[in-house]
Amino acid sequence: MPARLDLGPPPRLGYIASPLDRAAALRNDAATLRKFSEHARAGVYVVGGELVVLKTIGEDCDPLFSPGEARGLGAARENVFLGLLDGAPRFGFGLDPEAVERLKSRNDLKITDLRSIAVQGLIGAEHLPPLAEAKALVGWHARHRFCPNCGSPTNVVEAGWRRDCPACKAQHFPRTDPVVIMLAILGDRGVLGRSRRFAPTMWSCLAGFAEPGETIEEAVRREVLEETGIACGRVTYFASQPWPFPSSIMIGCLAEALSDTIVIDRDELEDARWFDREELASMLKRQHPQGLTTPPPVAIAHHIIRSFVEDGCNVLR
Ligand SMILES: [Zn+2]
Repeated sequence: MPARLDLGPPPRLGYIASPLDRAAALRNDAATLRKFSEHARAGVYVVGGELVVLKTIGEDCDPLFSPGEARGLGAARENVFLGLLDGAPRFGFGLDPEAVERLKSRNDLKITDLRSIAVQGLIGAEHLPPLAEAKALVGWHARHRFCPNCGSPTNVVEAGWRRDCPACKAQHFPRTDPVVIMLAILGDRGVLGRSRRFAPTMWSCLAGFAEPGETIEEAVRREVLEETGIACGRVTYFASQPWPFPSSIMIGCLAEALSDTIVIDRDELEDARWFDREELASMLKRQHPQGLTTPPPVAIAHHIIRSFVEDGCNVLR
């Protein structure tokens, strides 16, 4: 039985635990939605492509605009209903990325990407889930203006939660793409990899899209085998996280490695190797002698690694 290593209170994972009631039953209630757009406490999150528009108030940033303020930023290509916060409606505005670029010259606004906002803690953590919802939904609209069935332009219905094709009558729903992200472990060691796009010191869990006709467990075993040549047996679920880059859900897992020889798929990874719990702990704490790090606490990889550092192979039970 491995010794437990207590790392203290867990940090907060990003984009989870939305405070909004999605109030899906109201999405086709046009009269109520019209009233909502004039609601005194209505709030709008404004996104354009990968960027989010924030108000600056002194040193602080505020992601919520009134509907009037949001309209003043530019014409929204989409206006989606996100839900209610204590009865106050929340919307997402999708601006053209070019319109957002033009706003960069304004010194009462800060325009940056959602990852930076989350990692740097530029806004209250309670705003990250509705911003993730807005970004994923607005991004889906931007990529699905035409019917994949017949090629005709489609219309937005259900307050942004469906697009209908007037020609072939197909209905299209916002999609969420499942990604498995996992730590394969063997005794006191877990395997991490490095993608070429990572910062030079960062190592993370292996990850990949689940494919059609595959269970989560099968996707975990296939991805670990493809990327590192390691066969896995038991797979256990850890937790999940919305990941709006552009529209994924990260499904966090741990996997029991059955072999330890690594054969790296150089098309996918720059490097992969085993790390023991002590080394992983130093990376989580940003105390590694060579400066190696894990992803920050907003990302689920941090929490998967942390659970293994704390509980060792007991995390598989
Ligand atoms: Zn169609």
